[in-house]
Amino acid sequence: MKIYLDYGATTPVDKKVFKAMLPYFADKYGNAMSLHSFGREANDAIEKARKQTADFFSADSREIIFTSGATESNNLVIKGVLKAYYSRIHSNLPKISPHSQVPKPHIITTAFEHHCILDACKSAEKESLAEITFISPDKDGLISAESVKKAIKKNTILVSVMYVNNEIGTVQPIREISKIVKSTNGKIIFHTDATQAINYFDCNVNKLGVDLLSMSAHKIYGPKGIGALYVRRNTPIARVQDGGDQEFSKRAGTHNVSGIVGLGEAISQLKAQSAKRKTLVSLRDKLIKKVLEKIPDAKLNGSKKFRSPNNANFTFKNIEGESLILMLDKEGIAASTGSACSTGSLQPSHVLLSIGLKPEEAHGSLRLTLGKHTTKREIEITVKKLKKVIESLRKISGKVLSEYYKNNKA
Ligand code: PMP
Repeated sequence: MKIYLDYGATTPVDKKVFKAMLPYFADKYGNAMSLHSFGREANDAIEKARKQTADFFSADSREIIFTSGATESNNLVIKGVLKAYYSRIHSNLPKISPHSQVPKPHIITTAFEHHCILDACKSAEKESLAEITFISPDKDGLISAESVKKAIKKNTILVSVMYVNNEIGTVQPIREISKIVKSTNGKIIFHTDATQAINYFDCNVNKLGVDLLSMSAHKIYGPKGIGALYVRRNTPIARVQDGGDQEFSKRAGTHNVSGIVGLGEAISQLKAQSAKRKTLVSLRDKLIKKVLEKIPDAKLNGSKKFRSPNNANFTFKNIEGESLILMLDKEGIAASTGSACSTGSLQPSHVLLSIGLKPEEAHGSLRLTLGKHTTKREIEITVKKLKKVIESLRKISGKVLSEYYKNNKA
């Protein structure tokens, strides 16, 4: 029996979604930009999906831009807003070059964003295009509106705070942050990466008070390689990919028609799933309770209260995350860790470090993310197998690891 507890990484495509997509591969294969009937058929399908997406966000269809996923949406936000700033989109002022004497713009984000936001910001900083403030979350993994307020400067043009953190599942007070941002300076653009939120939380962009919002279809039982960016009307953002005039000239490239159809179908089904939220919360709480009860030296990471219904993230003392994942996989359980070994150097999760975990604690982390197919029985089996695996790993590697950290102070 295989148990999938990595819904935060990706979700299976829903059968209805799959069925809706199928005709758009081999039968209805037109290019949506073509003027003939094949093109119009594809275009109609895209516009239907655009409406489904816009309705979910209580937005207008013209405010939805389809992209290849949240990574692209987030890159478009950071790079497109900076490009618009330097080219003074929506302004009659003369155009200026990035290095001419204009105030360097300031962007506020958080230290535990997804790498696509963090690295886009770091690149902008390195290229001298922007000054960046990375706000640290508190030890529970929460960003306060107050900390955003303190970071705002005269030259702040963009604030980007994720809605739900992908590793520890903490839910940020987006509405409160928006109120602070908008009351301090009405011109600051406010963006949220809602990739991990839209399954479970209200994403009405007007209630949230956001100008830009990123999402990805494969986290909501839709296909991979397709996502969207909500762009509030008149928000200054320039395209960063040149080519055709697709997506209101904001994102060039032939449309991924079947993907867009899948995204529309997946997002339109989300409301029906919200009834299942309670079941998920009780499964998650059962999982957390049992793990903390049955496994010694286990700790829950992130907030207990402000937490996504599908997320449990633990640290186990004297455990190496990658070994844990591999052993669990052998037992038929798919999970993930904040420990990643790349090119021989151990790189603990920036999210776990940002909430104050020591590198060795971050290395011993485990993320279990539940989804709509998770059952009570799966949770019971997982707790049993996890206990067994941790016991055997501690016997083998506990001593070795603690010696390693003592000697290397990683
Ligand atoms: N942001 C967050 C919060 C995510 O969890 C992910 C996916 N792990 C991304 C962005 C990137 O999304 P995509 O896979 O669609 O590029």
